[in-house]
Amino acid sequence: MTQNDQEPKGRRSRTRLVHAGRNPSEQHGFINTPIYRGSTVLFPTVEALEGREQAYTYGTKGTPTTDALENAWSELSGAAGTVLVPTGLAAITLALLTAAKAGDHILVSDSAYGPTRHFCDTVLTRLGVETEYYDPCVGSGIAALIRTNTSTVLVEAPGSQSFEMQDVPAISDVAHAHQACVIMDNTWATPLFFPPHERGVDLAIEAGTKYLSGHSDLLLGLVSANGAWWKRLKDTYDAFAMCAGPEDVFLALRGLRTMELRLREAERQGQDLARWLQGRPEVLRVLHPALPDDPGHAIWKRDFSGSSGLFSIILKPCSKQAVAAMLDGLELFGMGYSWGGFESLVIPFDCSTYRTATKWNPGGPALRFQVGLEDIEDLKEDLQRGFARLTAAA
Ligand SMILES: *Cc1c(COP(=O)(O)O)cnc(C)c1O
Repeated sequence: MTQNDQEPKGRRSRTRLVHAGRNPSEQHGFINTPIYRGSTVLFPTVEALEGREQAYTYGTKGTPTTDALENAWSELSGAAGTVLVPTGLAAITLALLTAAKAGDHILVSDSAYGPTRHFCDTVLTRLGVETEYYDPCVGSGIAALIRTNTSTVLVEAPGSQSFEMQDVPAISDVAHAHQACVIMDNTWATPLFFPPHERGVDLAIEAGTKYLSGHSDLLLGLVSANGAWWKRLKDTYDAFAMCAGPEDVFLALRGLRTMELRLREAERQGQDLARWLQGRPEVLRVLHPALPDDPGHAIWKRDFSGSSGLFSIILKPCSKQAVAAMLDGLELFGMGYSWGGFESLVIPFDCSTYRTATKWNPGGPALRFQVGLEDIEDLKEDLQRGFARLTAAA
């Protein structure tokens, strides 16, 4: 039995987000599933203990709190099942260890989240798994890279920091023709804007730290699997006992209820700011797949139903000091890693320091923006003053 056998058919995502993973009649009528903390679970008889046939048997094996989020996420993702891990990066490493074994060759997008590469280049190398990075825009051309021992293809769309779109259905078709597992880091779109398993993904990753949390106050990872991969994922997960903390799961359930509203607002604000930045004389290019002139726009339009509030820009060539003058004085955009919260953020980045399969040569300094829920006019005024500092320092 999978986690998703009870999926109510035909309900739309906003209704699902409100009702998924809740059963007030099982908790004295209270709306939210409470935080269950615990290691030991008691059994009433020797027979029950030896048979382990009750719903909960030990803290690492799940609680009503973790079940609530796992079931809701499976329903939302169209997955056979979901597991919860302490961070988004742990979700990626668990998925890779579920799919790859010693002697395998795996294909990882050159645009993947940086720490994913670090795991492949260190731990997986040590375990005898060979990683080859590929051009994110390869599409069905990935067929030329498949070897007899290729077990796994990792995709991420759009790419971390650089925002290239990937043709996930085309890549999945090729991978499946060779019995390879398709892993996708779906953090940017979430299952609301990209239903991963419908599009051919076997194991989908979400850093719940980002939009699911929505408040920059927790770390969490989720891995969902289709029917073909659910048992293997669950067995691997149980072997690690890499479970998430109960408070974080509870807070993520709270974030889940408003996730679509926050994402839609992030989309609206993000597209507004992206268009405004496109019109600025200091900006060379905006990397945002929802913009019609973005190279990935056609794929985004075909496969995605929305965009989130994270995108990048390339500035016209200027000095490091000029960029620092712009960023250091910003009042509303904080500088820091992660994203998906209610507050706006910006970081400078340079993909050329780690890319190996493709050349990153964007023509100027690069900035990544996370657009929060502040008034967009205040955000523009903050950036306008920033551009004035940049110009003065140049
Ligand atoms: C942040 C992020 C992760 C990792 O999430 P953590 O919870 O910070 O470990 C994974 N993938 C992407 C695309 C991310 O942006």
